[in-house]
Amino acid sequence: MKSSKNTTKIPIEEIQNSSLYAKRKKIYPRIVLGYFTKLKTLSGLILLGLYYGLPWLQWNGHQAILFDLPARKFHIFGMTFWPQDFIYLTFLLILAAMILFFFTALAGRLWCGFACPQTIWTDAFLWMERLIEGDRPKQIKLDNEPKSFKKFRIKTTKHTLWIIFALFTGFTFVGYFTPIHELTHSLMNWQLSGWETFWILFYGFATYGNAGRLREQVCTYMCPYARFQSAMFDNNTMIIAYDEKRGESRGSRKKSQDNYKDQGLGDCIDCSICVQVCPTGIDIRDGLQYQCISCSACIDACDEVMDKMAYPRGLIRYTTENNLKGNKTRIFRPRIFVYAGILIALLIGAIYSISTRSLVELDVIRDRQSLYIETDAGMIENIYSLRIMNLDNKDHSYNLNTTGIEDLALVKNIDIKAKSGEISTVAIRLMVAKEKLQKRTTAIHFTLTATDNPELTITEEARFLGPLRFR
Ligand code: SF4
Ligand code: SF4
Repeated sequence: MKSSKNTTKIPIEEIQNSSLYAKRKKIYPRIVLGYFTKLKTLSGLILLGLYYGLPWLQWNGHQAILFDLPARKFHIFGMTFWPQDFIYLTFLLILAAMILFFFTALAGRLWCGFACPQTIWTDAFLWMERLIEGDRPKQIKLDNEPKSFKKFRIKTTKHTLWIIFALFTGFTFVGYFTPIHELTHSLMNWQLSGWETFWILFYGFATYGNAGRLREQVCTYMCPYARFQSAMFDNNTMIIAYDEKRGESRGSRKKSQDNYKDQGLGDCIDCSICVQVCPTGIDIRDGLQYQCISCSACIDACDEVMDKMAYPRGLIRYTTENNLKGNKTRIFRPRIFVYAGILIALLIGAIYSISTRSLVELDVIRDRQSLYIETDAGMIENIYSLRIMNLDNKDHSYNLNTTGIEDLALVKNIDIKAKSGEISTVAIRLMVAKEKLQKRTTAIHFTLTATDNPELTITEEARFLGPLRFR
């Protein structure tokens, strides 16, 4: 292949001396007020409230959400799930992925800007930072000041506040696995277990590191979603964009300068406020970038500027590529229907499956020592071992009914009980008169029904064996 005449040659020394590592430039996002910021704050407060509040909520005498790992029980709003219910976790993960695909195709990175934990906790840490250090100009000034007692005091106060908040986040996280009232009691009495202490510190450290120190780097370098989202984007996906046609040529001017369009200027006054408010430090005027988390801070900031200049709002706005090119936006398109269809099917499947799941499980295991026993009275006996798992929140006793052969009966009546969440094993003997058997092996059914709740029932099939020549 021939090289182009216009190819720029980079000196080999320059390549050798260049580094793949770029030092991070600290970002000082400027405070912004506006419609979308209010929505984002509301969404953040609701989500943080849920995270910190849910472990304290009680439901039917249990913590509403508790992942009790030692007991292998997961309590979720009155329902108890067991390791056998792992399939529901798979369901949940597929459902979450489909919700993400659907909303990304429809509304771009709405999740990143308004609901992602990284964004929510970073905003909380930014809020504390502003509370202690002031807004962007004060923060920049403080960081550029030489070391002093005042600087040390302010920085120490900020980091102490961050660490307390991060540790409280870690404590709440562990409260989803250890009953939070017990955990609080243990904490007050310095009786936390080694694992509890480890996870509080680990999760607290991760919160402090991600939301306080790494911030936008998590979105830019660590989050895979930022990289693969483009596969779900098309020209009809909602994005936050700068209207280049309207904004260019950008340039400063006086507010009273009404004839700026005659001078070739667009509506962008090049104030750079949209860049200053951006938590990832990008310039939205350079076009759609994977670093943009769709937080909409630049929309509010630019709208405020437009208001001051008495220009129409929306120079930066929620729009689509098609809209920017002057074409019609198609919200309802095939991929939206496909994602919505799969999502609805999964939702219906999950709800049906959870609402109809049995709270009792039964395994019937034939005794392997003997095929059958023939008594002097001409009866044939088979021995079975029943494993009953009570998946309900309370203890139960069960009635056993066997069908499949006329006059099939228990040799001796026994009490069948299983405590909540436990597996109970009982050995039973079934007998039937030899002449009642038609075949050497016959399918029979065991039906177990809770004595206090006839709806709690399960049926399992097994085989009853008899002699080769049964007549
Ligand atoms: S805030 Fe608006 S007017 Fe100011 S630089 Fe950004 S796009 Fe231009
Ligand atoms: S470009 Fe705008 S929407 Fe994107 S991250 Fe920056 S401020 Fe948020």
